[in-house]
Amino acid sequence: MSYLVLARKWRPRTFPELLGQDSVVRALRFALSEGRVHHAYLFSGIRGVGKTTVARLLAKALNCEQGMGPDPCGKCSACQEIDAGRFADLIEVDAASRTKVDDTRELLDNVQYAPTRGRYKVYLVDEVHMLSTHSFNALLKTLEEPPPHVKFILATTDPQKLPVTVLSRCQKFALRRLTDTQIRDHMAAILREEGMEYDDEALVALSRAAEGSVRDALSLLDQAIAAGGGAVRAGAVRDMLGAVAPDLVHRVIAALADGDGATLLAAIDEAYSLGVAPEVFLGDIVRAWHEIAVAQVLSAESADAWTQGMAQRLPPEAVQLYYEIGCLGRRQMGAAPDPETGLRMTALRMLAFRPVSDVPSKPQIARPSRAPHDTRGSGGQEGAALAGQSPISPVSVRGAPIAAGDQRPADQRPADQRPADQRPADQRPADQRPADQRPADQRPADQRPADQTRSPVVVTETAPAPGGSVLERLGLAGLMKHIAMNAVLDKSGDRVVVTVDPEAGKLLNKERIDMLKEALCAYYKDPITVDVVVAPVTGTPAHLRREAEEAAQCRAREALAADPGVAALKRTFNARVNEGSMRPRNSTAEERDL
Ligand SMILES: [Zn+2]
Repeated sequence: MSYLVLARKWRPRTFPELLGQDSVVRALRFALSEGRVHHAYLFSGIRGVGKTTVARLLAKALNCEQGMGPDPCGKCSACQEIDAGRFADLIEVDAASRTKVDDTRELLDNVQYAPTRGRYKVYLVDEVHMLSTHSFNALLKTLEEPPPHVKFILATTDPQKLPVTVLSRCQKFALRRLTDTQIRDHMAAILREEGMEYDDEALVALSRAAEGSVRDALSLLDQAIAAGGGAVRAGAVRDMLGAVAPDLVHRVIAALADGDGATLLAAIDEAYSLGVAPEVFLGDIVRAWHEIAVAQVLSAESADAWTQGMAQRLPPEAVQLYYEIGCLGRRQMGAAPDPETGLRMTALRMLAFRPVSDVPSKPQIARPSRAPHDTRGSGGQEGAALAGQSPISPVSVRGAPIAAGDQRPADQRPADQRPADQRPADQRPADQRPADQRPADQRPADQRPADQTRSPVVVTETAPAPGGSVLERLGLAGLMKHIAMNAVLDKSGDRVVVTVDPEAGKLLNKERIDMLKEALCAYYKDPITVDVVVAPVTGTPAHLRREAEEAAQCRAREALAADPGVAALKRTFNARVNEGSMRPRNSTAEERDL
């Protein structure tokens, strides 16, 4: 028995076998069972997702000798001839090789004749966007009023190139690109059925290389089986694809998280000695940053344990910056003396810009909370702009939390009273970092140009009202806190008047007024009378906070504008400061919303 390639052997023979196109299959089966099949369909999608397979299934469903319906028998001669590709009434045309108008005319001249064997003549025009304008015009006339025994099925990878006149005459279906997981599971099922052994890691690499196409996946699988002598092995697949062992990528990322330059370079050297192309290696590193960033936003069970661990360990801003540096490195690889140097410099740049606060074994401090869509974005300018934002070194803008009883701003306290991870990087003892790992502007002062001999920018903000007003100290939560934050309190003797801003006042009802009164009575302990009124007020805790934040924002903007480090980032990465993303470090999302 001759060897049949997997893509042909495992081509779906029934609608339910079609992988990952459930909505298209459902619509077609419904049309078939209702007997309302349109005279022209257009299937679009990337190569190898099943466009021509759907067309053949449709041809079988229309011509099965057991009757037209959503489940062709697969046994009658019509079904079998269609499966074998020799059914006289299924006319397959590759538009890429027959673009001329004469070809189309010749084809369409035969449309009028009745089918020789089946119920319908089915014309399958693949890569239909390749037809010339004249050919489209010739086709259009037939599409407008086809004979009742004719069905047209057009397939294309590029529907944008089709004239609107053609599009409007077809029922359109977009076939989906398959996910890596769908492809991986499909390959595993086939290999089990074929009785062949495989490594999971090999299937992960193959499914990724297939880029969403089942056909590509199965031809890669054929190659891998040949390379592995009848089994699918990770090593053989890596050699075949020029791919990188996941372990090497993990080592690079762990070394960056640890700030360990020696391990970082050793991993790159090892990849080089294994013959991994630097472009491929950097691509895999960038892809890993993407996976970590996604895991930071979704509580994803789909991410593996290693990715989840890194997602928790690294701040999202740092992951975004590393991703950005990686993408920039890929773009600059052509300009590097050789790809190997490009890869090393990109990795070293990631190391140089590692966040100040990510000191090993120290908990994260004041990680700014943000909406999920912010961290998910990976746009070029957006990511580069993060370089000017806390907590990325070498510039840090922060409002350090102040210890109770110590009202001095953080940067006036003696350095040794501050927790180690809040000190700017260049004030840490020199022996914490080997000299060769320090970014250029963290060199000892006497090595720096005169105008850079200054500390990194540190803007310190004290809380708007030390300790907060009585209303802030009531320990209220949720809506009640919102109401309290938008009110002012006057106390004279045993009488307390709470004036609530009209906007927040809309939230008041009897129950909430009682809760507010109870909280105040509990706070003052003495017997008091409380009146709650709604009227326009100024000087509420929410107002004060907003003003303080605006002032802090303003000072931070000025400090950043004057900072040579930021200017260098702008020059190096073509970065711009995303001013909307600057936040004083002690503000939380909840407080900002007030
Ligand atoms: Zn049949």
